[in-house]
Amino acid sequence: MPDFDSPDFLLLDDLLAEEERLARDAVRDFVSKDFLPLLQEHVRQDGSFPMQLVPRMAELGLFGANLHGYGCAGMSNVAYGLVMQELERGDSGLRSFASVQGGLVMYPIYSYGSEAQKERWLPALASGKAIGCFGLTEPDFGSFATGMRTRAEKKGSRWVLNGTKRWITNGTVSDVAVVWAKVDDDVRGFLVERGTKGFEARDIKGKFSLRASITSELFLSDVELPEENLLPGVRGMKGPLSCLTQARYGIAWGALGAAMGCYDEVLRYAKERIVQGGPLASKQIAQQRLVFMLTEITKGQLLALRLGRLKDEGRLHHAMVSMAKMNNVDVALRIAREARDLLGANGIVDDYSAMRHMVNLETVRTYEGTHDIHTLILGEHITGMRAL
Ligand SMILES: Cc1cc2nc3c(=O)[nH]c(=O)nc-3n(C[C@H](O)[C@H](O)[C@H](O)COP(=O)(O)OP(=O)(O)OC[C@H]3O[C@@H](n4cnc5c(N)ncnc54)[C@H](O)[C@@H]3O)c2cc1C
Repeated sequence: MPDFDSPDFLLLDDLLAEEERLARDAVRDFVSKDFLPLLQEHVRQDGSFPMQLVPRMAELGLFGANLHGYGCAGMSNVAYGLVMQELERGDSGLRSFASVQGGLVMYPIYSYGSEAQKERWLPALASGKAIGCFGLTEPDFGSFATGMRTRAEKKGSRWVLNGTKRWITNGTVSDVAVVWAKVDDDVRGFLVERGTKGFEARDIKGKFSLRASITSELFLSDVELPEENLLPGVRGMKGPLSCLTQARYGIAWGALGAAMGCYDEVLRYAKERIVQGGPLASKQIAQQRLVFMLTEITKGQLLALRLGRLKDEGRLHHAMVSMAKMNNVDVALRIAREARDLLGANGIVDDYSAMRHMVNLETVRTYEGTHDIHTLILGEHITGMRAL
């Protein structure tokens, strides 16, 4: 019996192209054979990621998978989504690593960088030889990132950056940070390289959630950068927000992976666990919970697949991504909680994945636009009125 039976109640596999199935299956195999055996050790050490897997992840084309050229895999957006789903079936930290590298670091360089920036960074990031991070959030400004205090000032031919970024995935292991800063009332993106004078990254410890992922704080104190480190192709919040749309798209798929992992694990458990003379799976309330899980997974899969096809056709709207991120993370978290509950006491130890997924999904609900913020985005889209 395979270690994971992927739920596919509406036979959505039939709607996938062969290369989409192949990309998904390769990552499923990688997660089962290479990642999961290492995971427990990293979860137990807060803030550590199995960096030795980065070359294999690069070989599988996981970094900037839906970008074309510069050593990127050029997958369809559906294949990319399926890959994110499989990574998060492993752990939200694993999917976050690929999301940040591809959606938040490679995408802005690809879309807004100079040719020299693309040639310097994209092949290195695609091959995992360089790692990147994305610095938007600050200690006092998360959802309302427009309020950021990080400033860039032009002094002669150089830019001088000052500020602090917090909650930055992979900050301390990054070779390059995409840092968003205010220039007067405008927002611009800068590439800040590891080792630049005045730039420091420190890890945040004590997380209950996303433990197998590095989360850092970035300090910029009179960091001097040449003009070549400014992303020339974008101004204003469109820059960071367009990156977030990329990453949120991946999360809409990824969260389903966590939910699918929880469902598969608890279904097997419920069939074997005997309570009051029969399998837990034979009890009405347990079946009701399993039915809820499968129904929500199936609805989420339909949402994600349609979103992917629209993205491939260039017809995706950011509000559609908000609906999918908001819904799929919300149901994944509810599914993880139900699965944890059905596992009883076993559900609280790390031999089972449900509680790890559950606490990870608390982060996923908060980052890349909280559940509330996506509700407000959709509310504004429907009514044409920005809620106060
Ligand atoms: C593990 C982890 C990794 C992260 N990685 C990155 C990264 O790589 N790069 C990066 O830049 N950021 C990253 N973040 C930051 C993340 O994007 C922010 O935490 C998120 O945007 C929320 O901001 P906040 O924490 O300041 O919460 P706040 O914005 O203070 O929100 C607090 C609460 O208020 C609600 N709220 C906020 N505004 C409104 C409103 N107008 N109306 C109603 N309710 C509202 C929110 O929904 C939430 O419930 C990461 C966060 C975590 C936890």
